[in-house]
Amino acid sequence: MYPFAYTRPADTRAALAAGARGGRYIAGGTTLVDLMRETVERPGTVVDISGLPLRDIRMTGDGLRIGALASMAEVAAHPRVRSAYPLIAQALELSASAQLRNMATIGGNILQRTRCTYFRDVSAPCNKRQRGSGCAALEGYNRSHAILGTSDACVATHPSDLTVALAALDARVHLLGPDGERAVALTAFLLRPGETPDREHDLRPGELITAVEIPPHPAPLRSGYLKVRDRQSYEFALTSAAVVLHVTGGVIRDARVAAGGVGTVPWRLTAVEKRLNGERPSERLWARAAAVAADGARPLRHNAFKAELLRRTVERQLRTVGGTR
Ligand code: SF4
Repeated sequence: MYPFAYTRPADTRAALAAGARGGRYIAGGTTLVDLMRETVERPGTVVDISGLPLRDIRMTGDGLRIGALASMAEVAAHPRVRSAYPLIAQALELSASAQLRNMATIGGNILQRTRCTYFRDVSAPCNKRQRGSGCAALEGYNRSHAILGTSDACVATHPSDLTVALAALDARVHLLGPDGERAVALTAFLLRPGETPDREHDLRPGELITAVEIPPHPAPLRSGYLKVRDRQSYEFALTSAAVVLHVTGGVIRDARVAAGGVGTVPWRLTAVEKRLNGERPSERLWARAAAVAADGARPLRHNAFKAELLRRTVERQLRTVGGTR
């Protein structure tokens, strides 16, 4: 570890002032401390925001609002989350370890950085760590990397399970910064790498996430999250699928499907959704919709299997959530 300054502001205003001076926010610390130890990140000042009043989980006129500093464990256990949005609880419980879920916050989960091993190895070229230095994963071992949303500059996946569920639920991210408050759709907030993979989100200087909001959804709503990984505990997704279906009168009125483990950001499968909307649930429909799950995929040398695995993951989860009749 190297020397850095630490400050713990008494209120949000003081935190924003410290952030505006270039301080790096820290809450649970489950990502940043690791990256500082590995010297991947070297902030001069760390601004500890864990004491700010941003832990509330409550229903509002605009839906469910989850404070950015609520821990993953708190959110997963919250009765309102479990009853209204069980998809979120499922995604959280399949993430990380129990110890990490007790520490890690919802805001930090969204902002967590990739698990690409070359990103965390400061001796390897990495455009995300240092723009223009190259990408060791392109010609290296890339079994766990992305097949959707990639660029010639970066092929790293976004590692979060929660954001896949939030993408399927059309969540919005609430932000507060020197210029005031704003809200952005989660799917617009997280950025594809393009030519600037070091720019991962639409967070302006000094801004912090204050909350995540999930809009109301029509009832009845069926949903579920499936995660496929090399081992059943403490492992990142090879593929995952969040499925949300609103079915009335035997017809799918609204389908939302998102995938994880395959995209540089949580990936909405709009082609799958298009095939589902207006149709009657059936085995044939699930297969037909899942067939386009990997449309547009650009597999790498070691991860071509992900396209077929994604198709199977989506089909299985459509069947689990939608049933057969
Ligand atoms: Fe870096 Fe992205 Fe390449 Fe990994 S895939 S080495 S994060 S540029």
